[in-house]
Amino acid sequence: MSPADIDVVICTHLHLDHCGWLFDLAGRPVFPRAHLWFGAADWQHFVLDPRSRMLDHIRQGMLTTDGARVHLVSHDTTVVPGVDVTMTPGHTPGHLSVVVSSGVHRALLLGDAITCPVQLDEPTWHAMGDVDPQLAARVRERLFRELEAENTYGAGAHFPELRFGRVLTGELRRWIG
Ligand SMILES: [Zn+2]
Repeated sequence: MSPADIDVVICTHLHLDHCGWLFDLAGRPVFPRAHLWFGAADWQHFVLDPRSRMLDHIRQGMLTTDGARVHLVSHDTTVVPGVDVTMTPGHTPGHLSVVVSSGVHRALLLGDAITCPVQLDEPTWHAMGDVDPQLAARVRERLFRELEAENTYGAGAHFPELRFGRVLTGELRRWIG
């Protein structure tokens, strides 16, 4: 498989550590056939707003990508069967999480909506990069509740060892990975 075989790329948000590999230093696409999916509000915040810290070659690559291959998401939607995105703003304005489903099993790819499982016990701890920390905290709690469901596991992009886990309820509500 080569980068040209990739036909869908979903970015949870447009912080550089989550999208900086989409284009080379000349602004050419790394995945020339891929459709790119990310939050519409992140497009506005990071690509169109010149005050953002987006690197020039990434911004140029995004702005010169065929618009038919750029999918700006503003509400929960299905990307391909079994792969959905759900809006989880706060860390960034257009942050989204990816839901991969197979039968009754679901995996939530949380991006930076939850930075570390310790935030279950420390709900006021927020990531330094959170654009709207209060909204991010409310969204985290919503996601932790989703992760109470049986057969639902999640992992954030910066979780230790990228290990998936879920929330156990009972006398002590706790994270198990
Ligand atoms: Zn981030």
